[in-house]
Amino acid sequence: MDELGSDFRRELEARGVSRREFMGFCSAMAVMFGLPKGATAAIAEALENKPKPTLVWLNFQDCAGNTESFLRASKPTAAEVILDLLSIDYHEVIMAAAGHQAEENLRSVVENQKGAYLAVVEGSIPTGANGAYCTIGGKSALHIANEVCGNALATIAVGTCASFGGIPAASPNPTGALGVSDAVPGIKTLINLSACPVNAQNLTATLVFFLTYGRFPALDKLNRPIFAYGKSIHDNCERRSHYDSGQYVEQWGDEAHRDGHCLYKMGCKGPVSFQNCPNIGWNDNTSWPVACGHGCIGCAEPDFWDKMTPFYAHLPGFPGFGTGSDIDKVGFWATIGVTTAFATHTLVHLGKKLVGTGGDHAPEGPPARTDEGGEG
Ligand code: SF4
Repeated sequence: MDELGSDFRRELEARGVSRREFMGFCSAMAVMFGLPKGATAAIAEALENKPKPTLVWLNFQDCAGNTESFLRASKPTAAEVILDLLSIDYHEVIMAAAGHQAEENLRSVVENQKGAYLAVVEGSIPTGANGAYCTIGGKSALHIANEVCGNALATIAVGTCASFGGIPAASPNPTGALGVSDAVPGIKTLINLSACPVNAQNLTATLVFFLTYGRFPALDKLNRPIFAYGKSIHDNCERRSHYDSGQYVEQWGDEAHRDGHCLYKMGCKGPVSFQNCPNIGWNDNTSWPVACGHGCIGCAEPDFWDKMTPFYAHLPGFPGFGTGSDIDKVGFWATIGVTTAFATHTLVHLGKKLVGTGGDHAPEGPPARTDEGGEG
């Protein structure tokens, strides 16, 4: 066992994480990535022995909900220890440094570790009024994002605001808010972990994949890891059998609601939303919105605040519901209807990429997605 490995094991023990729990965590990561069982040992070996890169975390137009998600593990876990062992040199919410000292820390990373550090961005980037809507240390968010993300090994946009603009970019978007891919053209490697907020488990898994394999997982057309965004909420929903059987909640609190029937009529956007919430849950897998009796609001999709509202109206494009096999047609046409609603955004987005404002950020190239993905 080398020095790094022994340090790591001591840290695990000090935090009350047993070797068995650590191996369980590595195994769960392998399952998330869809890798064979043998990958567990490779993940454990990499986490124990490989040097951990420096990470800087930028906060722009946001509610700090992604940081809250990141910090809210209820008990010490292997994931926490791994994140703790990353050298997080700048994070406005949790760092002890303040003022000039904090800005100096950031400047030092950008200058001295050029091309070697990871940048995490939380929040959208306002571009109106020459960036004056959000400034830190006298610099605009736009300036900081260009400087920090432009010199990073890779940038991870956490949350829908950083990925696609999110709520700050909702119509009429008074600050000219953009996601990282649109605000900072030409970033070498960009991974979007959209959701409101990001699921900490998806962030952990993305970092673990990078620490293990030295590259990022395969991405979809929106630069989101396929292991987390490759299937719709609807595909994996625990209420799916009720959807297929035509058993719908008609009113909040009715018998069907109490019996856990499908929330489609109550506005659930699960059929057009792509994330692994049904599989990994939230808050240490305690629950997730649909399990709590509330429909999915599509928070991981681009423009969700404009395109998924009203949240309590069912998906557009179909007049009513049938039963049995008719339901699948209803779901199909509902999906087509909302996908069409996204088409304008998609064309604009692709257009920007073609003229060089986005580029192909995916290190492995985005795979073709003919039957999955929220946009395409
Ligand atoms: Fe689940 Fe919503 Fe699909 Fe119903 S419509 S099965 S509640 S995801």
